[in-house]
Amino acid sequence: MISDLFQQAIGATANTISENAALLNELDAAVGDGDHGSNLSRGFLAVAAQTEELASLDMGEALQRAGMTLVTTVGGAAGPLYGTLLMSMGKAAPCGALLQVQDIAFMLDQGVAAVKQRGRSDVGEKTMLDVLGPVGEAFHRAIAEGARGSEVAAKLVAAAEAGVEATRNMEATKGRAAQLGERSIGHPDPGAMASYLLVKALCDRFTDQA
Ligand code: ADP
Ligand code: MG
Repeated sequence: MISDLFQQAIGATANTISENAALLNELDAAVGDGDHGSNLSRGFLAVAAQTEELASLDMGEALQRAGMTLVTTVGGAAGPLYGTLLMSMGKAAPCGALLQVQDIAFMLDQGVAAVKQRGRSDVGEKTMLDVLGPVGEAFHRAIAEGARGSEVAAKLVAAAEAGVEATRNMEATKGRAAQLGERSIGHPDPGAMASYLLVKALCDRFTDQA
């Protein structure tokens, strides 16, 4: 069974994505086709609608199920990529045991590696990976430094924020934005913004409860 806290986290992700759908569409209109917010909010709301069903599963299964829902509902480039992220994190989750921060950091590593493989992409190409990659690294650094609870959360949010900002001056070489070449420079990546919003909502949720 996933905990109440994780059920609340599902709601928090759906809220932040739907509240910011217009912003994400606007960012995507500048470098792509303007549908990133609509795509993701459809998916995260579909996952939130399954909360009761997900709650009866253990963490790994719940993440894999949520990932499949994203694949079938989001569409676009982002659907398979966020789906892959969640499914791979789910596969890396320890069975039954209560999650420790180290487990979450490891799950994120596995998720990021799978997104890179699926997207044939890497950090530095103006995508969601420019947030998720640095957040994963910040997570390991924070653990190594002995940071706890809200300190870890603050470091992850700071890494996510810096990650989105860094995409502004990058030239897109993957996804629809790559068609713009140099003209993609000057706009933050919508996928990176969505990943920042997700990291922030999750960190805020966990910090509130700490
Ligand atoms: P589409 O481009 O099909 O309209 P979305 O607008 O939903 O799909 O998603 C676009 C976002 O997906 C981009 O902003 C970028 O962050 C991410 N993205 C696209 N292609 C890749 C890729 N190959 N690797 C990683 N992320 C990618
Ligand atoms: Mg798009």
